[in-house]
Amino acid sequence: MFIGGIEAGGTKFVCAVGDESGNIIDKTTFSTEDPDITLNKTKLFFNQYSIKALGVGSFGPVGLNKEEKTYGYILNTPKLKWKQFDLLRRLKQDYDVPITLDTDVNAAALGEYKFGVAKGSKSALYITVGTGIGAGFVKDGQTYIGQTHPEMGHIFIQQRKDDDFDGICPYHGNCLEGLASGPAIEKRYGKKGYALGTDHKAWELEADYLAQAIINYLLILAPEKIIIGGGVMKQEQLYPLIRSKVLALSNGYIGLEHIEELIVAPELNDEQGIKGAIALTL
Ligand code: ADP
Ligand code: ZN
Repeated sequence: MFIGGIEAGGTKFVCAVGDESGNIIDKTTFSTEDPDITLNKTKLFFNQYSIKALGVGSFGPVGLNKEEKTYGYILNTPKLKWKQFDLLRRLKQDYDVPITLDTDVNAAALGEYKFGVAKGSKSALYITVGTGIGAGFVKDGQTYIGQTHPEMGHIFIQQRKDDDFDGICPYHGNCLEGLASGPAIEKRYGKKGYALGTDHKAWELEADYLAQAIINYLLILAPEKIIIGGGVMKQEQLYPLIRSKVLALSNGYIGLEHIEELIVAPELNDEQGIKGAIALTL
């Protein structure tokens, strides 16, 4: 019997069946529409297989506190049809197997931890820099959820004096996501990130903001690996820029001798989320 995984994103859904070793046997991707349409398509895919468990890495915010009524609900999303939708209840109606629900970024962190670049490490932080910014943390094989799940993309960093952009976060304006997500780059320069060219000044500023976030994550969590993925990180020139700025911010305070092995790119070719969703059930 296979294990089912769903990477439930705000833009697209990925469904897959796989095994304990992270092998994917079959996979399908479709765009996220209203809950009914999307979850019916999901069911059509899984109807072809007999699965023994289902792991779900979901966009959020999502209720993950088992003590609260909102456990398993999609919460405050701008996607109105999904707002306050009881995702877990619907999945339980559709699949009579144990279901494990977590955030998309926790699933991605677990995917890289079990099968990717953080294999063999004791702890790993996975940051995605895409349409939004978020991060998931794994330690000793367990993803971290607090009272609610962390929202590491919305931290407050120092905006640079030479950057007069207001930021695009509807809640905070110039939080990390407001200043450094893909849509923030697009709004600041009037062009999508990939159209800017690799030597555009945007990348030095982007690396500055991401390095500020990363030094804070390092000081708080001390992870053994920091994996940065997401669409914006296709700009590979960002990695060395970020590493040197993190070194400068640390100023010798924390041991960063092996920074090339500490701050790394993902290894699972955009499959960390779905492989991690499967791994949530293990
Ligand atoms: P999502 O966050 O929606 O899951 P992605 O991680 O692919 O999806 O992130 C999409 C964002 O990344 C968009 O804002 C897009 O403009 C940006 N992006 C995608 N490819 C690149 C690239 N090569 N260079 C810079 N930005 C990119
Ligand atoms: Zn914010």
